[in-house]
Amino acid sequence: MTVAPSDATARAATAARPRDPDIIATIGATPLVALDRLFPPALFQVYGKCERFNPGGSIKDRAARSMIEHALSTGVLMPGISTVVESSSGNLGIALAQLCNFYRLDLICVADPRTTAQNTAIMRAYGATVEIVDRDPETGEYLPSRIRRVRELLNTVPDAYWPNQYGNEYNALAHQHTMREIHEALSQAPDHLFLAAGTTGTLRGCAEYIAAEDLPTQVVAVDAVGSVIFGPPESWERRHRRTIPGHGAAVVPALLRPGLADRVVKVTDLDCVRGCRTLLAKESILAGGSSGAVISALMDASSWITPGATCVAILPDGGDRYLDTIYSDSWVESRFG
Ligand code: PMP
Repeated sequence: MTVAPSDATARAATAARPRDPDIIATIGATPLVALDRLFPPALFQVYGKCERFNPGGSIKDRAARSMIEHALSTGVLMPGISTVVESSSGNLGIALAQLCNFYRLDLICVADPRTTAQNTAIMRAYGATVEIVDRDPETGEYLPSRIRRVRELLNTVPDAYWPNQYGNEYNALAHQHTMREIHEALSQAPDHLFLAAGTTGTLRGCAEYIAAEDLPTQVVAVDAVGSVIFGPPESWERRHRRTIPGHGAAVVPALLRPGLADRVVKVTDLDCVRGCRTLLAKESILAGGSSGAVISALMDASSWITPGATCVAILPDGGDRYLDTIYSDSWVESRFG
């Protein structure tokens, strides 16, 4: 007796991806899925670009590959000789750890106590050295201490190279491709693109593709309350202590250019939790904090999005890295209860 394949099996079979030469080649070409349960298409259509499908589990695989492969191609990095030094508390560190392992490069990742034990363990499993620094005594922020330590390492470790994700054009360039994938998957330009801003690599790359192709897409950048990316925070914002990593920054990234975003939306940690938990409840997607930020911005956008519009939300990582925070009832209760 022949058993008919289920719809799901049949769909997967027709969409099978060709074989890849190695794991690094699987970076990109992430799925774009309709979010019709959360956003009924009768109002406007929303698609989520699921970046957790990258082999390192986040959108930062794209930036890491772009920066490392460029440095390898110019001879700045030499396999078996060079050491990559970077400041990251999470996704970029993991992405670099996999790439450095693949290309036989050493990696020292400078992180801070907010880096989860799981992220540190993943980086170490790939062979990276992880150094944890304390808060800067003057500003109370971690970033100045992390950058100071990076500079010390650059001066002391032979053949050390700092990709510098906040200022490296190849971080942004990688995301021209992210936007191209969205454009090609939809066979049209979305009316609105919602993305989270951290180093602003995603923002700049997507916006530059949109400008180069002369697309009518409006870019909505989602930032954290208290972040300085798009200007000094208001006084009430400064009192808001951000704990969810990913979006927002304590410095204005050197990559940022005026006019890249058509609209900026600022969200709190609680908005991220609300966005993540709604996405999980309605769409069965376990997403990370900045995905929750973007979804929460979309949930509040129905007053200004024109009916019938097509929107894309970039979902930068998965929720597995946030089980002790966003998806922990006791954490949510203790912070917002
Ligand atoms: N979301 C997550 C989970 C991230 O790790 C990052 C990178 N810090 C971002 C959003 C922001 O992306 P970008 O650095 O390209 O602005």
